[in-house]
Amino acid sequence: MRYRNPSKRIKDFKEVALGLTEKQALKEAQLCLQCKKPRCIDGCPVEIDIPKFISFVKEKDYLGGLKKIREYNNLPSICGRVCPQESQCQGNCIRGKKTRPVAIGALERFVADYEMLLGKAEAPEVKPPNGRKVAIIGSGPAGLTVAADLAKLGYDTTAFEALHEPGGVLLYGIPEFRLPKKVLQREIDYVRSLGVKIIVNWVIGRTQTIGELIAEGFEAVFIGVGAGSPKYLRITGENLNNVYFASEFLTRVNLMKAYRFPEYDTPVKRARRVAVIGGGNVAMDSARTALRLGAEKVYIIYRRSEKELPSRHEEVENAKEEGIEFYFLSNPRMIIGDERGWARAIKCEKMRLGEPDESGRRKPEPSGEEFTIDVDQVIVAVGQRSNPVLVRSVQGLKLWGEGYIVADKDGATNLEKVFAGGDITTGAATVISAMGAGKRAARAIDDFIMGRTKSSPQPPEPILSQSKH
Ligand code: FAD
Ligand code: SF4
Repeated sequence: MRYRNPSKRIKDFKEVALGLTEKQALKEAQLCLQCKKPRCIDGCPVEIDIPKFISFVKEKDYLGGLKKIREYNNLPSICGRVCPQESQCQGNCIRGKKTRPVAIGALERFVADYEMLLGKAEAPEVKPPNGRKVAIIGSGPAGLTVAADLAKLGYDTTAFEALHEPGGVLLYGIPEFRLPKKVLQREIDYVRSLGVKIIVNWVIGRTQTIGELIAEGFEAVFIGVGAGSPKYLRITGENLNNVYFASEFLTRVNLMKAYRFPEYDTPVKRARRVAVIGGGNVAMDSARTALRLGAEKVYIIYRRSEKELPSRHEEVENAKEEGIEFYFLSNPRMIIGDERGWARAIKCEKMRLGEPDESGRRKPEPSGEEFTIDVDQVIVAVGQRSNPVLVRSVQGLKLWGEGYIVADKDGATNLEKVFAGGDITTGAATVISAMGAGKRAARAIDDFIMGRTKSSPQPPEPILSQSKH
């Protein structure tokens, strides 16, 4: 994969990874062994027939390859860019045992971008309308997948989205330099071309309830509202000026175009020295965004070691190349403010790794040694949790943990006609796991409406009383 030069790319928000050339793609496709028992498919949550699509690339039939992928995945140019392939399809690739794995993600991106360059797309195959209506709440990867898969089967599907544009985290979380908005727009256009209706500025739980949707004639409802609320550090100084939660910071910049203030009217404070707390994709995106907004120094403060960083390896490498500095085994203890209430420094404690915790990773333990870094902005990226607006509006819906919905592997909840999937059922996860959940739920909803399953696979609790709040 070709990448833009770090010294140039940190000055703008244009895409960093440039994709494969045709020559590179053909060479890469030749590497695939076309295994009889391809392990790569086992690593893909939506089970794309990877060897088959690669065989199309080998034959230079790129649109044929894309068509094959779309049988399983409605958002290929997105997955080709942001999926953690290294731990999924590519991580499983048999060729990788002896040498390096086939760059499956880059090939997926190549065929999807090929169609985009042509500027026209083949009309998708959609079954004739069956007159059955399904409502989808949320238009992130989970919701878009359910909506698209059911539309292909002839369902009348409507996605209700709280924000003013569809896409979920793909739109407001992942920055332009990793996932250009025009790429997302093209995938959403494809979903719409299947007949999916997307209604924006529509907050289910406030504008309308699930009970009202069912009363309107929707025969099933899929909840794919993600986990968009921030987790707190709960340390002194978290309320100081210029301390942001990553979700707010990224939403301002990505969705509200704050980096073009005053041309766009949402401001974001630009800072000289920024500390980002956390080690996941959200932390890397926040740090690299702060850099592009003009920060001179950006630090990532992470309480475990580099080995445990949950972010995609590629993004860590990109961040390092761009000059982001890492403080590993460091835990923030306090954000120090000035007399006017602005963040000025962050006090941290050095950690050491102890025994593995319930996640299997070695637990960071305090060492008692403290240090302070001068900063004028802090971005907290220590995880997301469920937003309570929707879940609190559905009485009787079974929840776990911090407000996540209990659903079985096919998305069935304890309430009849109500399915759920993606981050709202698992906690913050990945694009492809949300899409995998969406695929399984679409199948289960089809079975349910067509009477192939008696009702929801879990013991149903049919009294669906609703309360707006
Ligand atoms: P979301 O994408 O969160 O979509 C939910 C949608 O529901 C939103 O549009 C929201 O506005 C809407 N909604 C919420 N409440 C309501 C309501 N009451 N009524 C109507 N609509 C509602 N994963 C990767 O695989 N690779 C990455 O590189 C990666 N990077 C990431 C970077 C960032 C900054 C973040 C935040 C996440 C990243 N992830 C990444 C995780 C991935 O984006 C999520 O796991 C995935 O988007 C979850 O999909 P979803 O459909 O469940 O929810
Ligand atoms: Fe090709 Fe690797 Fe899949 Fe085998 S496991 S078919 S080599 S991509």
